[in-house]
Amino acid sequence: MSALLRVEDLRVRFRTMGPLKALATGTKAPFIDAVCGVSFEIRKGETLALVGESGSGKSTIARTIIGLQRAVSGSISFDGQEIEELSGAERKPYLRRMAMMFQDPIGSLSPRLTVRSLLTEPFRIHGLKDRDAGAEAERLLRMVGLPADFARRYPHQLSGGQARRIGIARALALNPDLIIADEPTAGLDVSVQGEVLNLLARLQDELGMAILIITHNLNVVRHMTDRMAIMYLGRFIEVGSTERIFEHPRHPYTEALLAANPEPDPDAVLNRIELKGEVPSLMRRPSGCEFHTRCCYAQDICSRVFPEPSASPDDAEHSFRCHFPLERERAADIVEDR
Ligand code: SF4
Ligand code: MG
Repeated sequence: MSALLRVEDLRVRFRTMGPLKALATGTKAPFIDAVCGVSFEIRKGETLALVGESGSGKSTIARTIIGLQRAVSGSISFDGQEIEELSGAERKPYLRRMAMMFQDPIGSLSPRLTVRSLLTEPFRIHGLKDRDAGAEAERLLRMVGLPADFARRYPHQLSGGQARRIGIARALALNPDLIIADEPTAGLDVSVQGEVLNLLARLQDELGMAILIITHNLNVVRHMTDRMAIMYLGRFIEVGSTERIFEHPRHPYTEALLAANPEPDPDAVLNRIELKGEVPSLMRRPSGCEFHTRCCYAQDICSRVFPEPSASPDDAEHSFRCHFPLERERAADIVEDR
């Protein structure tokens, strides 16, 4: 499969205080690095998950891809075209082929617009005014399994699950090649979560778009995605096929996230290691391996030397940043020793 979206060495930085205040307080670095040199690609029709605790940089990557946030460096190319350097107008044809589903299903819908206006807004934004708004709204509602008379409703008249469906329908309006779904199940009841995910999966089968899912819900990752990237403090610390990582995580942080999953696999040996402590502040990054303050396998070198990514000997697509990547056998011994 060829790459639809390719992100290379992406860096995003936020200011934490203005230049004058920084000068007055003697602060040398009045900014934080929210995304630090992230590279990945999404192939046509594929589903990739970005996984990590809040503040790990997942949503920032999404916002940068769709142009809501500027990168300080790095490249983003879509279907072979570098888009980070394009002007707003030049970007538009590419942005039209990507759609974002924002995190809050109801809050992300403008409260004064009817469902019909919400669904057809993408046509207006992209200058496709000749479309028959009524017919388009009806078509989109049908795609997401809602009756045509929902077109007259306002966001406050929708349940969370219905609002999510409208979010999906709106994302599909321009028949995108890529949908970015930021926490698609957040705030929904478990039964509704299943419905929404099944709907997304069915639409992907029918329409063939790629999906980038941003989530900390590992059940979503397991059931929906082909590959996953685990983030910690703005970096990828493990990337690989979803099946492979669930079966054999190599990074201790991944292992701990899998262990914290509310529905762990009862047969997996690796599911018993706990994640201790809080995520460090981006303003005070730990030295060496940034996970060493929470890692139960940390050794001397870990606080001194930053681990470069290495690939699994038997799977070049599976890479991780750790001086002492987990072996199945070692994890089994540790569990037995307890
Ligand atoms: Fe833990 Fe060391 Fe690996 Fe970092 S490099 S994850 S501290 S074992
Ligand atoms: Mg987020």
